Parts: sequence; structure tokens; C-alpha cells
Amino acid sequence: MRIVLVGPPGAGKGTQATYLAKNLSIPHISTGDLFRANISQGTPLGKQAQEYMRAGQLVPDEVTVGMAEDRMSQPDAANGFLLDGFPRNVAQAQALDAYLRENELTLDAVLDLEVPEDEVVKRIAGRRTCRNDSAHTFHVEYKKPETEGVCDVCGGELYQREDDSEETVRKRLEVYHRETEPIIDYYKAKGQVVTIPALGKVSEVTQRAMGALA
Ligand code: ADP
Ligand code: ADP
Ligand code: ADP
Repeated sequence: MRIVLVGPPGAGKGTQATYLAKNLSIPHISTGDLFRANISQGTPLGKQAQEYMRAGQLVPDEVTVGMAEDRMSQPDAANGFLLDGFPRNVAQAQALDAYLRENELTLDAVLDLEVPEDEVVKRIAGRRTCRNDSAHTFHVEYKKPETEGVCDVCGGELYQREDDSEETVRKRLEVYHRETEPIIDYYKAKGQVVTIPALGKVSEVTQRAMGALA
């Protein structure tokens, strides 16, 4: 199965992607996680992405699309994948379409996680991320780790992402509305969008998403 997850920063894309990918036995591909891994390893790609991420802006398409295509071409993605945070603008959606067409593949669904903006702000403000792997996320109120400041999954140190500061979040939401929201209409025109109300317990949202894919 090939799925795209869309939604504003803090909607719960990464959280849901972890459970959905496990249930569906497909890899979770997050461009944000890939960028952060490159930054912590000090790669040239990480250096190219760093300043844009710090400012809450999109990393240029030339960098992003190549990285996403490389990841989708790995053997573990041959039978499907769940994209989280890619595509993030119409040009990326068109690049993804071209990639799928060249490889004779199709998307099964675009899941749009719908959350009111005040809830998104609360989710991001309390988000804590693991230094070892940014796919391991927690929340100071809604998803507390067993031991404060320590990742349940791998024992890594939890920290607040620099781009989760109030000021940068405002910028990221603006970028979301201006650049990313238009891809929802792009996919609606193809009849591929399923809107998932994403308030409530993590497990309830996962059930709604699984129900939409059945
Ligand atoms: P995104 O990948 O869309 O930016 P995350 O999955 O990182 O979002 O979630 C943002 C924050 O909200 C995290 O701290 C996460 O633990 C928390 N969160 C995710 N889903 C829920 C939920 N259903 N209810 C409450 N908090 C949630
Ligand atoms: P969130 O889900 O909280 O918005 P992500 O981890 O998905 O966070 O993204 C963090 C940052 O990484 C974005 O603000 C952006 O700078 C960069 N990024 C991630 N995915 C893309 C993409 N597809 N195109 C451009 N930039 C991206
Ligand atoms: P579960 O692990 O059972 O799926 P969650 O991780 O979704 O539960 O939620 C953990 C705690 O946060 C629960 O007490 C839940 O009631 C609370 N919670 C979840 N979503 C929200 C929300 N949107 N606003 C306030 N509290 C929430």
C-alpha cells in the first residue's frame, strides 16, 4: 500500500505513521526525520537543510525530492510506503506523481489529519523528541515517557526541537497554509483524499485511519 499523510505541524502525523506503518507492514518515510538524521551526522545534505529548518521554511525541492526518491527506491519500500511530511507543496506532489508513473506505481490514499489550530499549538509546545531518532516523540502531558526526559523506545535523551519554539511554529503554520494546504485540493481533484478527524486519543485516531484504508 502507498499512502501520503498530510496535516499541519503537530497534527500527529509522525505518531500515527509509527502505528500505521507497523499495522500495514510498510516503512514510515518522514522527510523531516531524514533531514534531522543527516544534520546529526553532519552530512552535506544535512548542512544544506539546516538553515531552512531552523527558520521554519521549506528545504528547497531540488534537495528534498532527490532524498525522498532515494528513500522510496530502497528495497524495503518495494511493496509500499507511508509518506509523512512529503509532498509539502504542489511541485513536490507533481514530482511524486512523475516518480510513481515512471515506476508504474499508484497511491492508494492521501490521509488528511484534521486538527484545530489551537490544539496543534498545544501539541507542539509540549512535544519532546529523542536525540537518537526523531521518530520517537513524546508529549509532556499527553504522552509522558516512563522516566522524565528519557525515551521509552531507546533510552535516548528527550529535548525540545529548536523549530518547536513559539516563534518558529507560527512561521511553520503560515508556510503550511500557503504552500502545503494546496496539495489537498490537488489530491481532491484526483479523488484520493480521506479526511481523518485527529482529535482524541492516539489509538482512536489510528482506528479511524485504519478504517478509512480498509
Ligand atoms: P507531526 O508529525 O504531525 O508534527 P507528532 O506526531 O510529532 O506530529 O505529534 C505532535 C505532538 O502531539 C507530540 O508531542 C505527540 O506526542 C502529540 N500527539 C500526537 N497525537 C496526539 C493525540 N491524539 N492527542 C494528544 N497528543 C498527541
Ligand atoms: P512537522 O511535522 O512538525 O512539521 P517535520 O519533521 O515534518 O515537522 O519537518 C520539519 C522541517 O523539515 C520543516 O519545517 C521543513 O523545514 C523541513 N521539511 C520536512 N519535510 C519537508 C519537505 N517535504 N519539503 C521541504 N522541507 C521539508
Ligand atoms: P492512549 O495511549 O490510551 O491512546 P493518548 O496517548 O491518546 O492515550 O492520550 C494520553 C492522555 O492524554 C489521555 O489521558 C488522554 O485523555 C489525554 N489526551 C489525549 N488527547 C488529548 C487532547 N486532544 N486534549 C487533551 N488531552 C488529551
